[in-house]
Amino acid sequence: MKISAAVVPSTRAPFEIREIEVDAPRHNEVQVKLAGTGVCHTDAIVRDGWMPYTMPAVLGHEGSGIVISVGEDVTSVQPGDHVVLAPAYCGHCDQCLTGHPSYCRNSSTYNSKGSRVDGSTAFTDDGAPVSSHFFGQSSFASVTNTYENNVVKVPEHLPLELLGPLGCGIQTGAGAILNVLKPPAGATLAIFGTGAVGCAAMLAAIAVGVTTIIMIDIVDSRLEFAKQLGATHTINSRDTDPVEAVKSITAGRGVEYALDTTGNKSVFGQLLGVVAPHGHAGLVGAAAFGSEVGIDIGLFLITGVTLSAILEGDSVPQVFIPRLIALYEAGRFPFDKLIKTYEFASINEAFADSASGDTLKPVLVY
Ligand SMILES: [Zn+2]
Ligand SMILES: [Zn+2]
Repeated sequence: MKISAAVVPSTRAPFEIREIEVDAPRHNEVQVKLAGTGVCHTDAIVRDGWMPYTMPAVLGHEGSGIVISVGEDVTSVQPGDHVVLAPAYCGHCDQCLTGHPSYCRNSSTYNSKGSRVDGSTAFTDDGAPVSSHFFGQSSFASVTNTYENNVVKVPEHLPLELLGPLGCGIQTGAGAILNVLKPPAGATLAIFGTGAVGCAAMLAAIAVGVTTIIMIDIVDSRLEFAKQLGATHTINSRDTDPVEAVKSITAGRGVEYALDTTGNKSVFGQLLGVVAPHGHAGLVGAAAFGSEVGIDIGLFLITGVTLSAILEGDSVPQVFIPRLIALYEAGRFPFDKLIKTYEFASINEAFADSASGDTLKPVLVY
């Protein structure tokens, strides 16, 4: 089938909208006509070569759309179903079997190999292979083939084109709070970074009744927006020491929970610095491989602090995304306020606006 896709022709090159071919879904695949797809930091760092990836490639991993056909072994969805696409997982390793598919032992084979497990690609351009199955889905295409286990069925009365970011950026922030840190009502929390992930974490914290939410960033306009969304305090760490400021807000105690969504090396020490004794700190921001920080083990030990590295909100997408949708429908998780939509053809503009921070979560609409 001829489709339209945003192809990265070579590392660090801009996206090019091209007409390419998608093949038929395999026995365990679902073919989806995309309605929308979010733009995420991970697409940009793969385009820019932070990790080796076979180009040309179709990236994109926050897709939502309508099922148009399914392989013969697929039983959980059928043509016409509305779905959100999440990262893929094998389903049979120890991590998958214990409910932690984000840490699937075979994740790279399913999500970042640039092909199916068997090495074939779903896409071709004039007969030449184009990398597919990025995060199991390669959603920067009008139609794509994805594995059954990364589709999540969603209700049909919702604005389908806006739901894709639930599959990555939004569940990354919200899952860090709801699945891992689990702050109780009335708790204190600091979040470094007011991008889509940080703001999704904040909205989840508000939903469960956290009453002190301190948002930390270096851009005043973003801090102002976080305040409009419900942050109780904001700190611009460009002109204020966040460790001192958090201490002063919390009467010297520090916060019980803290989350870094920036992946910035200099923030790591601040993250541990703001947490109260026996608190819980989470790390979700992607840092380049090879980023190292020093840590005083003696000092760290006497704090009793728990540090969790959290991928994709440590969620089981088929369980967690419906919960986020239920919160959204109840008016308690307005993640759509983080989104700005763009025409699919404006993909390079959407990435530029994401990089500059002008848009928290761009969503391309087909
Ligand atoms: Zn697995
Ligand atoms: Zn992502």
